Amino acid sequence: MRDLMGKVSPLHPRAESLRIRGRLVKGFRSGLVVAEGLAAHGRGEAFDYIIGEKTTEHAKKAAEAAVAMLLLAKRPVISVNGNVAALVPKEVVRLADLVGAKLEVNLFHGSVEREVKIEKHLRKHGAKEVLGVDRKFFTRIDEIHSDRRKVDKRGIAAADVVLVPLEDGDRTEALKKLCKKVVTIDLNPMSRTARAANVTIVDNVVRALPLMVGIAKKLSRWDPAKLHKTTCGFDNTKNLKAMTELISKGLAKTR
Ligand code: ATP
Ligand code: MG
Repeated sequence: MRDLMGKVSPLHPRAESLRIRGRLVKGFRSGLVVAEGLAAHGRGEAFDYIIGEKTTEHAKKAAEAAVAMLLLAKRPVISVNGNVAALVPKEVVRLADLVGAKLEVNLFHGSVEREVKIEKHLRKHGAKEVLGVDRKFFTRIDEIHSDRRKVDKRGIAAADVVLVPLEDGDRTEALKKLCKKVVTIDLNPMSRTARAANVTIVDNVVRALPLMVGIAKKLSRWDPAKLHKTTCGFDNTKNLKAMTELISKGLAKTR
């Protein structure tokens, strides 16, 4: 499975999945990721296995609507947790740049040490500004019952559109109650997050983020009317239904 240098053999049928796990484990060892993050990845992986570890047409459609929504936003914010920082640091910084969004560290299992590590990691990958680490700007969202209630006044607290990849359902619902639009990336089309968000990209973050970067390059040249048409034409409930149907059909075929 691994050669003498510890590299996954490209011939292994699950090579890519093992490489992704390797990145998370590295993130865990360096203090970016918590043990619970590894378990959360496992839940995602199970769905990825079923959808064939490929980006579907439904996910592409959702990604286009998501990028259009971020480009139309007045104060877009991308929320970053440990898993996202470990898996797609470069891409998340690039996407923020292309859509004019702020990056904010926001953790379910909060710790100042980990927040600073994630901030440094994002800066190493090109981020000029990272919110969510300076106590001076902290405020609370009382509706959230986890460490994620602590947000930055300049970021999530003031945002109109928030991208929350790999999110917990509580916060998605709370952000919606505060009239914010929520975009998420979640491999489980049945999660509370997937159902509560305005746009859900049912795909692995390792594929969805580079895809969104490519789409952002194209859509940043579009006028607002065309972007509006893209967001208005997107129906999240319909898209999620199509994804669950695709999953059930895939499972039925293996019987
Ligand atoms: P919810 O609280 O929304 O009902 P949950 O409690 O089942 O979801 P959480 O641990 O709160 O799950 O959130 C993690 C979510 O992220 C899960 O839905 C999981 O499928 C998804 N996930 C994990 N790793 C990835 C990944 N690499 N790409 C996309 N989604 C992922
Ligand atoms: Mg949850």
